[in-house]
Amino acid sequence: MGYKKRRKRRLRLWVDGTFIHFPGDDCLPDFSCCRPEFAAPKEERELFVKLYFAGKHKEYERMMMMFLGRAMPFLTNKKVYIAGGKP
Ligand SMILES: [Zn+2]
Repeated sequence: MGYKKRRKRRLRLWVDGTFIHFPGDDCLPDFSCCRPEFAAPKEERELFVKLYFAGKHKEYERMMMMFLGRAMPFLTNKKVYIAGGKP
């Protein structure tokens, strides 16, 4: 199965509450596959997947940033490296 197809299937499972990190894949948008305590509410997961399947990049990317912002303090110890930022 191709990456995109697999990702779509995983996103559907995610909406239904299955948080699994498959080897070789990225984390789920809310990182719930690795840290279940970060799981976004079902409404947010549904909205994200709706935007994702509709190809609304800007909107779902904004949601991804929101998930990332919530998880960030827990994912890093002290330093946060952001691509393109100053060293
Ligand atoms: Zn993960």
